[in-house]
Amino acid sequence: NDMTMTAAVAHPLPKAPFEGRHLIDGIWQGSADGATFDRISPSHGVVVSRSARGGTAETEAAIAATRRAFDDGKWSRATGKERSTLLLKVADLIEANVERMALLETLESGKPISQARGEVAGAADLWRYAAALARTLHGDSHNSLGEDMLAVVLKEPIGVVSIITPWNFPFWILSQKLPFALAAGCTCVIKPSEMTPSTTVMLGELLIEAGLPAGVVNIVLGFGQPVGALMAEHPHVDMVSFTGSTAVGKAISAAASKTLKKVALELGGKNPQVIFPDADLDAAADAITFGVYFNAGECCNSGSRIIVHEDIAEALVEKVVALSRKVAFGDPLNPETQVGAIISPAHQQKIGAYVRDAVASGAKLALGGEAVHHPGLPGDFFSPTVVTNISPDMPIAREEVFGPVLAVLTFKTLEEAISLVNDASYGLSAGVWSENVHTCLAFARRAEAGTVWTNTWMDGFPEVAFGGFKQSGQGRENGRYGLDEFLEIKSVVMRI
Ligand code: NAD
Repeated sequence: NDMTMTAAVAHPLPKAPFEGRHLIDGIWQGSADGATFDRISPSHGVVVSRSARGGTAETEAAIAATRRAFDDGKWSRATGKERSTLLLKVADLIEANVERMALLETLESGKPISQARGEVAGAADLWRYAAALARTLHGDSHNSLGEDMLAVVLKEPIGVVSIITPWNFPFWILSQKLPFALAAGCTCVIKPSEMTPSTTVMLGELLIEAGLPAGVVNIVLGFGQPVGALMAEHPHVDMVSFTGSTAVGKAISAAASKTLKKVALELGGKNPQVIFPDADLDAAADAITFGVYFNAGECCNSGSRIIVHEDIAEALVEKVVALSRKVAFGDPLNPETQVGAIISPAHQQKIGAYVRDAVASGAKLALGGEAVHHPGLPGDFFSPTVVTNISPDMPIAREEVFGPVLAVLTFKTLEEAISLVNDASYGLSAGVWSENVHTCLAFARRAEAGTVWTNTWMDGFPEVAFGGFKQSGQGRENGRYGLDEFLEIKSVVMRI
């Protein structure tokens, strides 16, 4: 095997598991029945965190506290300046705690430490951007309704928001939601993934340090059942903001429909990149390699479906395979590592099954395809993998593999490429590589995706809306749209 594996490094692990408790009405507390759950590091096999395991009682108490905090108005009626000042303080505190948070995020998720640092530090910028938005809550006024009439359109916080997050970018995804909801004046109850609860708990500590009034943000640790399910259906919750799998997103939407509460969903993707013969192949190969191995492919934006023109398919695959061999996978605590551990043994198996199934149906393995045993670590790894000769009906071409696996399909004409792109239940992001601006724009107009990248991949900004078409979700995060999700519109019509 001529791939690049990084060695286990002698990094000091935390001496004892991080103890996570619920935050309810400003008070850290365990569960009434004393229940806890452990997170074992997927790379190092040690217990990283021991968290209180929430049940119905804790969830009810947290929702009630969130409701009271909204209704008492300390936060929901605070000025934009007050909200903004607090969010800026939180951003500073996040930056001061990058190392502590990144270490736990790495040990809980298996992602490389360099990327965990980038995620936490980058999230501080989302808090700063949301802080700026907090001072821009304004609607419209209408003075053309007749001399004696005036109407103003106000934007008001939607109320109590349930935030439910996944394990792949726990801190980043939370930061695409929480500061925007707080900027709008909402109060929030949060359930992080049971795989990666600890950076959310650490953030709770920072919110208190920054002076956020008790009850404005509550945290319940635990599983989808009963905690997440109750947060999705509870009548005192006004909105659910969820990121995770499409299957759970549908369950949440159904539960929320009982009281017709608003739902914002960021779900899965099977994101295509189309490469035309006139593309800069080196730039494309570089971005494709990054786009599929970033976060071990456990990424909603993974560019895992390559649709390459048949004339350049061989040349492109050759370049991608050569780059893939150099991708350093191994110990997430090694600063050289680019691809860390897979989140769980079950998920590692699932990735392998997709590859085996494709090969059994006639696909060709150009690289990798194996669950890998690391000589220095007990954890679950999967080598960078490139699979060619894929036909569009194979599961590997249609479903989210959520692993370091690239599926390569070919096309002849622009029409064929567009129909392959849009023949998908997902519509999160899509990419096009061509030196011809007309090709890029034609593609951008016709691709059914919430984000289209042209001659780049995965660039995101707090300013730019992000979200999915079709079964990749509903609603948007980031930008003004990300704030608007948490606002109700009220028209006040006056006779004067
Ligand atoms: P998941 O759907 O299994 O879990 C997400 C969260 O939902 C967890 O906190 C979980 O405990 C909770 N949950 C589970 N069942 C629930 C229920 N019935 N009611 C309420 N909550 C419930 O997802 P995951 O495995 O943690 O994350 C991976 C998925 O997330 C992938 O499909 C990925 O594409 C998606 N994702 C999407 C985006 C995006 O922005 N579009 C970003 C990251 C991840």
